[in-house]
Amino acid sequence: MSQSEAQSDVVNKPPLLWLQASIFAITLLVALTLVPWYGFTHGYSWTLVGLAYLFLWANGLSITAGYHRLWAHRAYKAHPVLKVLFALFGAAALQNSALIWCSGHRRHHRHVDDNELDPYSAKRGLWFSHMGWMLREYDAAKEDFSNAPDLLDDSIVSWQHRNYLAIAIAMNIILPVLIGLLVGDVIGALLLAGVLRLVISHHTTFFINSLAHFWGNQPYSDESTARDNSILALLTYGEGYHNFHHTFQQDYRNGARWWQFDPTKWLIKAGSWMGLTTDLKRIPSFKVQRSLLDMQFKRAEQKLAKVDTESKWAQQWRELLDKEYQHFAHNLNQWTELQREKYLQKKERLSEATHEFSNELQHKWHSTAFHSRLRELNFSLKMQRKRMQHLLLQLSDAQPV
Ligand SMILES: [Zn+2]
Ligand SMILES: [Zn+2]
Repeated sequence: MSQSEAQSDVVNKPPLLWLQASIFAITLLVALTLVPWYGFTHGYSWTLVGLAYLFLWANGLSITAGYHRLWAHRAYKAHPVLKVLFALFGAAALQNSALIWCSGHRRHHRHVDDNELDPYSAKRGLWFSHMGWMLREYDAAKEDFSNAPDLLDDSIVSWQHRNYLAIAIAMNIILPVLIGLLVGDVIGALLLAGVLRLVISHHTTFFINSLAHFWGNQPYSDESTARDNSILALLTYGEGYHNFHHTFQQDYRNGARWWQFDPTKWLIKAGSWMGLTTDLKRIPSFKVQRSLLDMQFKRAEQKLAKVDTESKWAQQWRELLDKEYQHFAHNLNQWTELQREKYLQKKERLSEATHEFSNELQHKWHSTAFHSRLRELNFSLKMQRKRMQHLLLQLSDAQPV
């Protein structure tokens, strides 16, 4: 790029949002200077550290479980008490009202990686997707609620949007002062529960838009830049499994496997035991396995394409892959057939006027048979995934002769 082009690029940039930029800069500066200085000179009590940590988690989980999975994706339903808590502690994160946040996030999913329409497109670079997009008046980030009529109808979301400034100030200044009065250290509380909590909360959330689109692997899909990263999941209340999330955004889980660190998923699940959350959406295991296998086939094809396709070695691999692929296609057909049968049975059952004993018995038998066939199919896919994993490893290691 020539000097004049670079200059015109700077000139053409949208105007800077001074308030936002100042909040980010000042809070970061205070967190890096005054927070440690006060710690060295006065010290922070363990009670204060504990309360600030609790506030950080309430703050973070309100964004991930509330703003993100409940409101932006409607992955489950929540009791009004929980929604009010999400609205209050979500506003504490100073990331705008849920309405603005969610409509922007829905655009991110719909137009992911599109530099014009995705508000935080990763294709515009790490800095832009992290926070650069919030510092200037970019068109893609302008308020547009046309994709959020459900949220406009949600009384708690609307209430939070109308009173956002007052709630945000109360949560970021009054609450830390109250914490300070409780532990007898108002300045310490303002620094720790006010500023440091806010800065950590900001950057960990922003990692999901930036690092989670750059660093990690893509086991479910490579159609977007989104990646799964277990280290990021530790810092983002489970949202580091971003490749899964972009592939199956309706699922209330991001770390879908039981061992994956996803406290947001655990909170939502625990809420269901207490009647605070309902209608938790889960993508059927078969569909998840199908995506994983699809990607494995894609990778195997990419690896095979790099070798001499005429060689005997490559042909043997091709035969093996074709065999696996036929097996995969057969399982997919079986699954489609099973879904069709399930649909027809449901329809038939609904149309029956009486539920006689024999019908009831027949229904139970069908239902058991359906589930055992589904389990068999899932198992078959799981085993095939293992075989493919093995195959891919061998493909990487082996050299064509
Ligand atoms: Zn999302
Ligand atoms: Zn994303």
